[in-house]
Amino acid sequence: MSKNNNNTAVDIDTVDDITNSISKVDMSISDDDMPDRCANCGKEGGDSLKSCAACKLVKYCNRECQIAHRPQHKKECKKHAAELRDIALFKYPTQKEDDCPICFLRLPFLDTGSMFYSCCGKRICCGCIYAMDKNTNATSLCPFCRVPSPTPGEEVVKCAMKRVDACDAVATRFVGSYYHNGMYGLPQDDTKALELWHRAAELGHTAAYFKIGCNYVNGQGVDRDMKKAEHYYELAAMGGDIDSRLLLGALEQNAGNTNRAIKHYMIGVRGGDNGSLIQIECLNLDGRATKDDYTKALRAYQKYLNEVKSRQRDEAAAFDDKYKYID
Ligand SMILES: [Zn+2]
Ligand SMILES: [Zn+2]
Ligand SMILES: [Zn+2]
Ligand SMILES: [Zn+2]
Repeated sequence: MSKNNNNTAVDIDTVDDITNSISKVDMSISDDDMPDRCANCGKEGGDSLKSCAACKLVKYCNRECQIAHRPQHKKECKKHAAELRDIALFKYPTQKEDDCPICFLRLPFLDTGSMFYSCCGKRICCGCIYAMDKNTNATSLCPFCRVPSPTPGEEVVKCAMKRVDACDAVATRFVGSYYHNGMYGLPQDDTKALELWHRAAELGHTAAYFKIGCNYVNGQGVDRDMKKAEHYYELAAMGGDIDSRLLLGALEQNAGNTNRAIKHYMIGVRGGDNGSLIQIECLNLDGRATKDDYTKALRAYQKYLNEVKSRQRDEAAAFDDKYKYID
């Protein structure tokens, strides 16, 4: 973590600017622009030169040249590698937000705002689940694929396992959680949970890294290790996971890096996390975040609300707390 502890306003536009600059950085290190001389011996090598894996700023003809050049390159390399890493870390996920496959509205951040159906491997919003229950009285039908929902218990696991065998990343993450919590007749088994979460993450569901990070914080199935926890939270965050931002922000805040903490919280707020908004509010109250930071956070949260709010979801939430989708 860098010792960046100033009080300047971090706006979401700045985060975007950083984000945008990644393409510039990438372009600046494209093969066309890279020096085609070895940084150590100066020999021209064309395609045979290998670039420094950490900073991608310089090229070498071989490992010997790289080692010989290391003392003078080390500082610049570390600095640039850290910059590249921060660009990736503070980039707001560019992939489209998850939408409900039925109403096509953005899925709420809050857990109770949607449910995972193991029959089709879809996450469906509380509004659509409620509408299905209300209109057909068929509480046991999946609102998306209309097959009878598996009854809680072994059947859920059997259904989900089929999706795991089909390499469904989301289902793999959920089965991991079933083991973590000892649900649906499965034994509580964190070793098994971690194995499934790692597999889910490798299959592209990077939010599974968040779960792994939590196990490192709590010492479940692994030794407690805050460094490793932070590493996995960062992997999750870079993959688009919003839950990780609140924890990463707290870690930076505790380390005195308020500016970096605010950047994490701001991304959390854009993703719909009310907890991150509260953190920015508190930092504003004690003078560590500017009024401008807080105003921008409020605006970002309002934008999120506009995207997730619907009459159907409001109706569901008013009917029962189990459909609550906004804090
Ligand atoms: Zn050389
Ligand atoms: Zn380098
Ligand atoms: Zn929906
Ligand atoms: Zn289904």
